[in-house]
Amino acid sequence: MAIESSIEWTDATWNPVRGCTKISPGCKHCYAETFAERFRGVKGHPYEHGFDPRLVPEKLAEPLRWRQPKMIFVNSMSDLFHDFVPDDYIVAVATVMATANWHTYQVLTKRSERLCSLLNSKLKFAAAQPHIWWGVSVEDKRYGIPRIADLQAANAAVRFLSVEPLLEDVGELSLRHIDWMIVGGESGAGARPMREEWVLSLRNQCRRKKVAFFFKQWGGVRKAKAGRRLEGKTYDEFPRRVHHPVMPAEDCFRAVREIESRYVTRARPLPSLLIQPSGMSV
Ligand code: SF4
Repeated sequence: MAIESSIEWTDATWNPVRGCTKISPGCKHCYAETFAERFRGVKGHPYEHGFDPRLVPEKLAEPLRWRQPKMIFVNSMSDLFHDFVPDDYIVAVATVMATANWHTYQVLTKRSERLCSLLNSKLKFAAAQPHIWWGVSVEDKRYGIPRIADLQAANAAVRFLSVEPLLEDVGELSLRHIDWMIVGGESGAGARPMREEWVLSLRNQCRRKKVAFFFKQWGGVRKAKAGRRLEGKTYDEFPRRVHHPVMPAEDCFRAVREIESRYVTRARPLPSLLIQPSGMSV
């Protein structure tokens, strides 16, 4: 099943892992859980098992089949660094990202301790790549601020903060080695409010520390109506992107085959899957 991503700061989503469990207040109204649970029990649907955590190895090689360079949000429907994901599987995801390097990847987690430990060990090869951006969620002071310290301690080429849903005034943040900040309010039924002065404080900190700033949304029950302008302006800044040439089709084919022979027990026919102009998946 292919879907366009409606997330403002990305082009496509890639989910070699599905499902997750809640870890902090930012998870309260998890959109991924709401979406996945809608399809629990629907036979043949990718979310037939709802939000139950599971690996999806048949999705592993997907970016290698997407010929058009994209910004890809990795695991929009899960958390790559959740305990149930084995180290070797995370290394496989990172290997695909390092190989299909004509894309830009956005990896976001709330499990920042594991992110830090793996980026400084088994994922060193991927951490150094500027087309892979590593980020942590910062919804409040108690849970969010320690995650920033973990991210800063990881040897990543590009680091970002997703300050969303912003639940309180998080004060002055340490932005050393941070390249990008996304800020947004919660949306949907029961959305917790976000105050303008909290957002302005973060924008001003980004300005002072020369951090790219992306204001995603005010949120609320009517997200579209509330919009995403801050003091009359739209903030759509990104870190600098690197552009690598698209790998020749035969090399992609070989890479897909290698990944699938290792991780997928029942591989599908490969050549027909190889060339696709774009990709969005759940
Ligand atoms: S970590 Fe992310 S995907 Fe997992 S429950 Fe929390 S908000 Fe949802």
